[in-house]
Amino acid sequence: MARGIGRIYQPSYRDSRTREKKKVTVWWIRFGCRRTCGKPECSGVHQENSRSDNRRVAERLLRKRLGEVGVAASLRRKSTARRSRTWRE
Ligand SMILES: [Zn+2]
Repeated sequence: MARGIGRIYQPSYRDSRTREKKKVTVWWIRFGCRRTCGKPECSGVHQENSRSDNRRVAERLLRKRLGEVGVAASLRRKSTARRSRTWRE
């Protein structure tokens, strides 16, 4: 996932007993929505647990989420266009 505004990753942590650095097996996704998701509490960046250790599942979830915020953005553009058309008439 080099392209786009999202990425998937496995958070790492330090084992409290062995002090070894480890990675969790589940994949997380992280993406910037540029506040197009419409959620008032949105910081512009979303992180979500894919709940899967399968990288492909996480990639699919990320693509879906990016599609959702993309759809939200294009809907907003459309309504803005409609408003400005009404305003001109
Ligand atoms: Zn958002």
